[in-house]
Amino acid sequence: MKTLTLILALVISVNMSAQNDHIKYAAFNIVSSSIIGGIGSGIHHKENESFGKAFVNGAWKGAISGSINSVSKEMLRIQSERYDLDWRLCWGSKIVNSVSNTMLYNATMNESSLLKHYSIDIGFIRLSTDYTVQIEPISLACFTGIFFSGGKFDVSKSLTIGTPVFLQQMLSTYGKTYANNITINNQQYYVRHNGKLLSYTPNVILHELTHTYQRLQYSSINNFLTIYNKYENIKPIHNDLSSFDILYLLNKTYFENEAMFYGNNN
Ligand SMILES: [Zn+2]
Repeated sequence: MKTLTLILALVISVNMSAQNDHIKYAAFNIVSSSIIGGIGSGIHHKENESFGKAFVNGAWKGAISGSINSVSKEMLRIQSERYDLDWRLCWGSKIVNSVSNTMLYNATMNESSLLKHYSIDIGFIRLSTDYTVQIEPISLACFTGIFFSGGKFDVSKSLTIGTPVFLQQMLSTYGKTYANNITINNQQYYVRHNGKLLSYTPNVILHELTHTYQRLQYSSINNFLTIYNKYENIKPIHNDLSSFDILYLLNKTYFENEAMFYGNNN
């Protein structure tokens, strides 16, 4: 019955998605997180538990995580519609997003509690209820890399959004995301909105912020690999880029469209 309800809910959400972009992207988040949660949980099934039973439990938790994840992205969308950054909405969105990532992580690990190992990523620092502070090596490497290649750290924008923002000259695009760091073009771009000429920079940042969310969301896939990890003492990493890269290549168009929708008010 539980399985049937889950399948039905997923089918309905996919069908409804054809009608409205908000529902379309929410549905994709719910379905993809549900699949990630299900497979991860199945792999981590307990000794007295079948793969199928663990899969359904994880898929449910993944679906909850996916719906919360889309709420965090909607909070970015509210700002992109205004062509403005609001630190309360940015930090609120970041916290909601971290809750959804924690839930997905627990789903893939077949944990009974949804909020165990709660963690939030602020730049290359991961604050967690397990181990107080952790450094995320890839984000740190990118942070120093951008800094030494001439990126100008923007304190005000970084504090507003809770993710490092660098201004960079000669960037070929509006902005770029490097792990949990954002670079934006030093050049100013403007957009006409309600008869006013507004800076386009907030939307560039919101677009890149969506990419950082995508990376955190789908890096949970790495948890599948942890059972094959010979270094059993090492905590499961959900910050490795390798799996995300594969997924990113497969879904490049989708990820770009999603970032355009939530970040650029497309
Ligand atoms: Zn993009």
